[in-house]
Amino acid sequence: MEFPSNPFRTFGGVRAPHRKNTAKSPAVMMPPPEQVIIPLCQHIGAPCNPIVKLKDPVFVGQKIADSPAFVSAPIHSSVSGTVTAISEITLVNGQSVKAVTITSDGTMTTDPNIQPPSFESREGFLKAVRESGLVGLGGAGFPTHVKLNIPPGKNVDTLLINAAECEPYITTDHRELLENSEAILDGIFVVLEQLSIARAIIGIESNKPDAIKLLRDMLAKDPRNSDRKVAVLALRARYPQGAEKVLIQAATQRIVPEGKLPLDVGCVVMNVTSVGFLGNFLKTGMPLITKRVTVDGSAVNTPQNVIVPIGTKVCDLISFCGGYKTEPKKMTLGGPMMGSALFSDEHPIIKQNNAVLAFNEKDSRISKPTACIHCGFCLEVCPMHLMPVMLEKYTEVNNVDELKNLSIMTCMECGCCSFNCPATRPLVHSIRLGKAMIRKADAAAKAKAEEEAKKAAEAQAEKSAD
Ligand code: SF4
Ligand code: SF4
Repeated sequence: MEFPSNPFRTFGGVRAPHRKNTAKSPAVMMPPPEQVIIPLCQHIGAPCNPIVKLKDPVFVGQKIADSPAFVSAPIHSSVSGTVTAISEITLVNGQSVKAVTITSDGTMTTDPNIQPPSFESREGFLKAVRESGLVGLGGAGFPTHVKLNIPPGKNVDTLLINAAECEPYITTDHRELLENSEAILDGIFVVLEQLSIARAIIGIESNKPDAIKLLRDMLAKDPRNSDRKVAVLALRARYPQGAEKVLIQAATQRIVPEGKLPLDVGCVVMNVTSVGFLGNFLKTGMPLITKRVTVDGSAVNTPQNVIVPIGTKVCDLISFCGGYKTEPKKMTLGGPMMGSALFSDEHPIIKQNNAVLAFNEKDSRISKPTACIHCGFCLEVCPMHLMPVMLEKYTEVNNVDELKNLSIMTCMECGCCSFNCPATRPLVHSIRLGKAMIRKADAAAKAKAEEEAKKAAEAQAEKSAD
């Protein structure tokens, strides 16, 4: 198979400071906390329903919630202990979800039913992936068994492994590359075989030369790669190189059209930690119950990478990292560009989280926005060729039609426009509001159309009865 020796050019992006302070910090395993709070929706799609009751004993890796919906992923216990609450909690994205609280018995006893999956067909493989609870671990949270279920008629020739990790501060994928490289390759070769995909490209930003060298050396010696179907591509270290559409263009020169998916241009994209997890799961059968998380920021005593039981409260994780150095004025789940502001450190770590950042007062200050000076700097850096300044204007006046005309829904909320704005306009915030307006308007239009259709059907039925 042909591989590009250099990445193809992509539009936009910014030179955000990398601040990869924990790149040399091998991940340490956090002991089980006294209690975990496991939300029953940690993915895009239908929330799960609990299949355990109050006071039930549970094991590590035991399934505790599932859903009959196709777009969903089961949830497993990350500790052994007892179910002590099933309650409603609010996640950082404002979503209200059910959560199972498990009080740990400290023994971390594994579910005796856990064993490596066996499968003889693509369907069997996808079923095993579903049972693992795997979702996109780069932050998207899309159920992996759905992503890998390539519909008939779609011709996919490239598996893209996203190891760009372009967000400042976060180093979990970098550590995954260094610490779990064998499982990453195992996962890649299984996916290529099961989905009959011709090649895989592992995209790594050039600011991780140790990981690039390690993976290249391993692939050169791997007998499974004698026909050279897997290669590493060193990407430009420029944010947002890891955004799905940007990565596809950088690695294949293909452009995903508006409203289309990577499948439509022959690509499946998987995060490197997802494929590494898959490699381990296929050997052990242990479902997704831990997450590697970068803990960093000026308010944290000991920044480091930690492997955390899912459901661990942020405050317990911070305590494990030596506690707060000073009172945090701003905390995020995820990086500074795309992460979500954390309203409480009682929030649990979920599958998609890859960083907890806590900043002191000085580092949390944001300049007051001033009036737009029409410089156009926000347009110059938008990888999606949008006009952020106009999206902000039309959001302010609630002009849903113009927002749609300007393709607001294709905004991936990368934050490049806000980052580059000399007037520090909160452009992404406005764009999120604009998208919410469209969703609200569309839902209202749908409800109105359904109501009218219902009335028309009733009128027709009355007429027929006459
Ligand atoms: S408009 Fe959206 S996609 Fe474009 S730079 Fe701003 S946040 Fe990124
Ligand atoms: S970068 Fe800021 S000031 Fe310049 S046009 Fe865009 S919104 Fe206006």
